[in-house]
Amino acid sequence: MVTVSLSSTGGILVRYGRRTFSMDPKSSENADYTFVSHAHSDHLHIVSEKERIISSRETVQLASERGFKMKEPEEVEGVELLDSGHILGSRSINIEDEVIYTGDIAGRERAFMKRCRLKHARVLIMETTYGSPEYVFPPTASVIKQVNSLISSCYDKGMPVVLMGYTLGKAQLLSYMFSSWKPIFFHESVEKINAIYRKNGINIQNGITVRNSEIESLPEGPWLMISPVMNSKSTQVKVLKKKYNAVTVLFSGWAISREYVKSVGADYGFPISDHSDFRELLQIVGDVSPDVVYTTHGFSERFSRILKKEGFDSKPVESYQSTLHDHLTED
Ligand SMILES: [Zn+2]
Repeated sequence: MVTVSLSSTGGILVRYGRRTFSMDPKSSENADYTFVSHAHSDHLHIVSEKERIISSRETVQLASERGFKMKEPEEVEGVELLDSGHILGSRSINIEDEVIYTGDIAGRERAFMKRCRLKHARVLIMETTYGSPEYVFPPTASVIKQVNSLISSCYDKGMPVVLMGYTLGKAQLLSYMFSSWKPIFFHESVEKINAIYRKNGINIQNGITVRNSEIESLPEGPWLMISPVMNSKSTQVKVLKKKYNAVTVLFSGWAISREYVKSVGADYGFPISDHSDFRELLQIVGDVSPDVVYTTHGFSERFSRILKKEGFDSKPVESYQSTLHDHLTED
């Protein structure tokens, strides 16, 4: 029997047979095993003495770099980790070919990142960040082409370009995809993670590291910088604009919406994402071909309704806050 519920800390609790698994909890929970899918900070917690951890070695390494010391992960009988293609070390968990919890998952190849790997299971618990039909991303190659021509026209005018994305994951893709532009600066927070990716065999070229305090003393443009997402109201962007006339470019799946790009105050926005778009989420459901789909994050209610129309049994996990336990399938 499988039960799936929302835990009191906002993680997901899965009971299968005699074992309980706490998926990406926000704090330590009473379960036999804790699964940490990847090292984004909203998926990390302070691990307690008694917790038994299931995770990848890369996630442990990245988590400790971000101030979350984890224990050695364990190999657990009947549990398989599948590459979820989201960031370095990200995994989905497959419990006895019955239950798959995806964590954050990407359904397409991007630069050095592969597409997620999946298997058939009866119960699928999946993230649905972009689970609404308007979120279909264009082919990555065509986005890269557009960005290269934007950079090229800025370089022609002597203007520097700042490419902004999440420090862990997106910034490494940007560092890799646009490394042919010189000189290339990496914000210190990006370079810290780039170095870990390099240690894990990913060929991100070296660039010039820039500390926040050094932003005022950069050379004249043109140059390229890979930086975390900074709002146009931040001191750094104000300096970059005023002193260098820099162009800021935001990378996010949300960039499908112009309103989002405007709210950050970036000059341009492009939809390169480490999550699956709407079609890829449907493809993931097709790959797993489950009896029931639990949805979580983003458009979980909407995506669940769409799946129901397609004939799947589906429920958003969030709607279980009041009941806590729901018995789904029985052997
Ligand atoms: Zn993530």
